[in-house]
Amino acid sequence: MAVLEGEHLTKNFGGIIAVDDVSFSIERGETVGLIGPNGAGKSTLFRLISGVQEPNQGRVFLDGEDVTGLSPHEICHRGLVRTHQIVHPFENLTLLENAEVGAEFGGRDVDDAVERAHEVLEFVGLHDMAHTTPDELSVGALKRLEIARALATDPEVLLFDEVAGGLDTEETEDIVDLIGDIADTGKTVFLIDHVMRALMSVSERVFVLDNAQLIATGTPEEIQNNQRVIEAYLGE
Ligand code: ADP
Ligand code: MG
Repeated sequence: MAVLEGEHLTKNFGGIIAVDDVSFSIERGETVGLIGPNGAGKSTLFRLISGVQEPNQGRVFLDGEDVTGLSPHEICHRGLVRTHQIVHPFENLTLLENAEVGAEFGGRDVDDAVERAHEVLEFVGLHDMAHTTPDELSVGALKRLEIARALATDPEVLLFDEVAGGLDTEETEDIVDLIGDIADTGKTVFLIDHVMRALMSVSERVFVLDNAQLIATGTPEEIQNNQRVIEAYLGE
């Protein structure tokens, strides 16, 4: 059964159409990559799905329920969370406290939240630094903290927007491995990344947005050989 569906999603900003009649369906447990040239509408599509922005037209269904127009907080409670393109942890809180905030946002009470915070920091490999603050972290570790905060909310579906942005090759590989680990736990993953090789390696299916429209969907191999996709990128 589809865990996440978009139906005719459309978003305009004044005269600009950022997302144009996009429909898609993602099965429970799938890992799907979203690619497309700069400005194609990828981040906007994620904002429509996660409730940060409302579509002008179209619907979003989570677990078969219409969640269009609900707040990010309500959508998070229903099991979908998005990590941000730009990482912004609470600078004056420790990593443990940052993860706790995620767990409480997801609906856990305080004691439960502390336990969950320990679990997720362990999972992302930051537990040794639980009592330090984010300013002591490398860019790669900050991304892992962001992922830990998202996991702490107990999501069924995770959206990652350019989670490897700004990372070097080794840090990118670490993050991709971590996303693979998350997918292996049965969660549904929908991710945007411009590091094509990394995205293709972790995704079972790939969606391609170009000029606000979904122009192709398929396995990584099908996408890499798709003439329309090749043209969209060459024309960039
Ligand atoms: P991508 O993530 O694929 O690079 P975006 O979703 O960020 O693309 O942007 C898609 C288009 O929508 C771009 O032309 C961008 O300038 C425009 N856009 C995005 N957000 C806004 C906004 N808040 N106001 C006006 N235009 C926007
Ligand atoms: Mg973007």
